[in-house]
Amino acid sequence: MSFVNIPHPDLFRQQAYIDGKWCDADSGKVLAVHNPATGEILGTIPDMGAEEARRAITAAQNALPAWRAFPAKVRSRLLKRWFDLITARQHDLAVLLTLEQGKPLSEAKGEIAYGAAYIDWYAEEAKRIAGQILPAPVSGQRVLVSKQPVGVCAAVTPWNFPNAMIARKVAPALAAGCTFVARPASQTPFSALALAELAEQAGIPAGVFNVVTGAAEAIGCELTENPAVRKFSFTGSTEVGRKLMAQCASTIKKVSLELGGNAPFIVFDDADLEAAVAGALAAKFRNAGQTCVCANRIYVQQGIYTRFAERFTAAVAKLRVGNGMEAHNEIGPLIDQRALQRTLELLDDARAHGGEVLCGGTHQGVFFAPTVMGAANDDMRLAHEEIFAPVAPLFVFADEDEVIRRANATEYGLAAYLYSRDLARVFRVSEALEYGMVGVNTGVISNEAAPFGGMKQSGIGREGAAQGMEEYLETKYIALDGL
Ligand code: NAP
Repeated sequence: MSFVNIPHPDLFRQQAYIDGKWCDADSGKVLAVHNPATGEILGTIPDMGAEEARRAITAAQNALPAWRAFPAKVRSRLLKRWFDLITARQHDLAVLLTLEQGKPLSEAKGEIAYGAAYIDWYAEEAKRIAGQILPAPVSGQRVLVSKQPVGVCAAVTPWNFPNAMIARKVAPALAAGCTFVARPASQTPFSALALAELAEQAGIPAGVFNVVTGAAEAIGCELTENPAVRKFSFTGSTEVGRKLMAQCASTIKKVSLELGGNAPFIVFDDADLEAAVAGALAAKFRNAGQTCVCANRIYVQQGIYTRFAERFTAAVAKLRVGNGMEAHNEIGPLIDQRALQRTLELLDDARAHGGEVLCGGTHQGVFFAPTVMGAANDDMRLAHEEIFAPVAPLFVFADEDEVIRRANATEYGLAAYLYSRDLARVFRVSEALEYGMVGVNTGVISNEAAPFGGMKQSGIGREGAAQGMEEYLETKYIALDGL
């Protein structure tokens, strides 16, 4: 029995999608997928391995010549049709997402719109991939530079944004003329399979977009080591990203990595206090604190610390926790027991290092109460590790130089935030922060028009904007002589 009840049940697919066909694992084995909020089994997915991944790569290889040869306008129209179908089915897709991932339905709707926006954006960009003709240093010659699709692409994605992390990759890839094999996280595969169903309904040809489900390591090895795959894109933890990057080395693939973060959120004395509180709430508690760009360390300057701590704690204490399918809830469950155990360990460590719980600190099953940890310091694990839970540590700082030094004291470099009304300081600090993205007076930074990505061990490459398209293109230079 399944607990999935959506108006358009055709979107709830329990098979993988290879070469335009819905298929089971060769072994016939399946994996169960649970609702994190209730523990109920939602359904099953094929437990596939290397052989099925190879088949998907071959399908993508066979589909490539025709897909890349389409005029960009044709690819653009198909992507646009896909976008229209996703938008029309936003409610069903959001319900499916909340059921498998746990986030509140309103956030799930937001994720569907956010993911679809990348498909819409790159449908437009497909028509604007252009080269250059450059003057050569010798007369009678020209330097001709053209852009070509990189070829077959593959991706492994995480559970925290089951729709958008795939959409952000597949949209520029298909727009550029590449074909694609996706392997979604085993905890949240149904959103990816629903995207494949809608791709099929949109008329995207067989083999252009494939979804393989099952064994992470076996499928991951095939996607990274198969020479037919020319580009590999991963979103997930730095630990796994490091391993997959090494696996890609044997075939020298183009690689994009969107990895973990440890975002500083800096509030200066001159900040607009209300705006900073609202920004910190948005940056910390979306998806129950389980996003890579979540504020991880909130640094507050000493002159404003007490007022900020009071207002922020009061706002956090009001957040409603519960099943994401119930309209009023703002914080859903943690993804699983392992995440719960890790959160409890981080809190124990913080208490042992002098931390003071200002609100929260408790849990009911995997539902964790939004927590503010006052008197946080650099000896705590909270200062160095990605928290990935609704726990907000507050650190006090004295001056600009100190906070820049502490903010940069991490191997991560994904997102950072700062609140200040001093324009010179805004430029100074945002330029000194070693992060790929800096939000100034905002806690929400990601959209399809912006290049999303990290520095240092937070990753390589960008998703979104023109930079996101470049990731799926090769540059070819043709030397023209005899002119
Ligand atoms: P994870 O453990 O690295 O898993 C991510 C994906 O990799 C999952 O599909 C997982 O499969 C798969 N995987 C795990 N081990 C693998 C292996 N040896 N070979 C191939 N695939 C493997 O990360 P997570 O805990 O799911 O996700 C949270 C992490 O993602 C956080 O660190 C977060 O910061 C990061 N993230 C980054 C961004 C960004 O844009 N920078 C965005 C979102 C999330 P299974 O699920 O089946 O194990």
